[in-house]
Amino acid sequence: MNHVTHNFSAGPARLPPAVLERLSAALAPQEQPSIVEASHRGQRFMAVAEELHERVRRCAGIDEEHAVLLLHGGASLQFVQLPLNLAANRPAAFLITGHWGKKALEAARTIGKAVVAGSSEADGFTRLAEVEQIPHNCAYLHYTGNESIHGVQFDRPPQADVPLVADMSSEFLSRPYPYSDVDVAYAGAQKNLGIAGLTVVLMRRDLLERIPDELSPYLDYRSWADNLSLFNTPAVLAWVAALEMLRWMEDQGGLEAIGERNQKRAARLYAAIDATGFWHNPVAAQCRSVMNIPFWPTDERLTARFLAEAEQNGLIGLKGHRSAGGLRASLYNAQTCDAVNTLIAFMQHFEERYG
Ligand code: PMP
Repeated sequence: MNHVTHNFSAGPARLPPAVLERLSAALAPQEQPSIVEASHRGQRFMAVAEELHERVRRCAGIDEEHAVLLLHGGASLQFVQLPLNLAANRPAAFLITGHWGKKALEAARTIGKAVVAGSSEADGFTRLAEVEQIPHNCAYLHYTGNESIHGVQFDRPPQADVPLVADMSSEFLSRPYPYSDVDVAYAGAQKNLGIAGLTVVLMRRDLLERIPDELSPYLDYRSWADNLSLFNTPAVLAWVAALEMLRWMEDQGGLEAIGERNQKRAARLYAAIDATGFWHNPVAAQCRSVMNIPFWPTDERLTARFLAEAEQNGLIGLKGHRSAGGLRASLYNAQTCDAVNTLIAFMQHFEERYG
């Protein structure tokens, strides 16, 4: 079955039809219990767990120096689980390039000392931030690989002499990336890797030694680090969805091919936004996001009309985040070229009528 609409939602986001079909088949009534009805300690789920860890590791290009942790609680829980585990008695530093970095900073401040290492807030988050100061004895520098609301993306990890922690939620496994150079990378699965309920954390194993022994095992990364992340009952369906996504990604040619396609799609949409003065995106060219593209009609009164007409034409999920307004198109791994071409044609048609 084909999608009748083009979905640009920021997450949960669209899935490839082939993945949806595999999930439907997995959930179809059968004589045997389906995978979501069977024990997560049983043989069938253990095979899922093994292949999923292996594929995440392979796709991210990391070796045994990093642990693959499959957790619960969304990327947001990492905003506090990270400082609890790694910054118990030391300050953490944050590079702030948008909404999510600020959220991570605020959350870390509820746990301990957290300082701003650099910020582009004064420029309305339209550019990257430089590292200006790192406190003595700093536990880690946290950055947001891709700011999903402001549409600002680091091309590569920033340079610092302290461990790097990256919120990769909205760009995880969307292009080749030097994950082995990043000490901790974390992401919710619901954008590029399937459905909500699973959070992936890639963590350099030697950092596990810094975890305070008095931390509750329910928050301690070491509880998940071995034993295939099966400390408690996992989000079974989200694990199966991530596995199907990774298989699909390999069929697409892997991260090289996917990254190239993602890049081309975004470039086409930015070209359409920049073509005339009718639309605009204020982010500096070198850090415009490939994943989330916020844009505004220059006459902002046209936003509501655009959204209504777009929806009538089957283009959905284009409303900007409530804190930013305007429009936003999210172009994650499962987005299609057809959707982007249809959106661009619709934007041109809209401009002809209201420009
Ligand atoms: N970080 C980033 C960059 C995000 O885009 C989001 C969600 N949109 C989050 C964190 C929070 O993710 P979750 O809802 O999985 O907690």
